[in-house]
Amino acid sequence: MKIIMLGAPGAGKGTQASRIAEKYQIPHVSTGDIFRANIKNGTDLGKEAKKYMDQGQLVPDELTVRILLDRVAQDDCKNGYVLDGFPRTIPQAEVLDAELTKLGTKVDYAVNVEVPDENIIGRMSGRRACLKCGATYHLEFLRPKTEGICDNCGSELVLRDDDKPETVKKRLTVYHDQTQPLIDYYTEKGVLKTVDGTVSPEQVFQAIENILGA
Ligand SMILES: [Zn+2]
Repeated sequence: MKIIMLGAPGAGKGTQASRIAEKYQIPHVSTGDIFRANIKNGTDLGKEAKKYMDQGQLVPDELTVRILLDRVAQDDCKNGYVLDGFPRTIPQAEVLDAELTKLGTKVDYAVNVEVPDENIIGRMSGRRACLKCGATYHLEFLRPKTEGICDNCGSELVLRDDDKPETVKKRLTVYHDQTQPLIDYYTEKGVLKTVDGTVSPEQVFQAIENILGA
């Protein structure tokens, strides 16, 4: 089973991808993780990617695709995988499809975890972080023992710039510009499945299980 996860930053698609991987015994392939692994292991692909990243540039589509295809060609991906963070653009989706076609296979499901922007902005603005030790909290879901103070190190908790509504709104605009075409693309292919991401993670996963089957 080959699954693609779509969903805005903060929609919880990474969490759902992990659960899918666990239940269906397929690897959770996150682009961020493969990049880090290639760089850490000093592979040729990793060295190439690092050149762009060191210069603060985006890694080109073509290289991202090569790194991804290299990962899914490995043995543990034989029975399928769940892709998280890829494809991000139509050219990436097209290359993936072309490569899968060569292998006589295809994407089975594109699972879209849908959460309205207002909810995401609300969720993010509840996050609190300790800049000293890196611990993270949430005013609603994961409260520190003492309000505003880190449980680990006693430092003051802050709302990071990344989680501020203005920043989140900007990221969501970029996300929608990039992703709407992908949603249309996978709708046309007949594999798009949208689940309501506003309910609890357990309920979201149940909806996904209903789609993927037991
Ligand atoms: Zn701390």
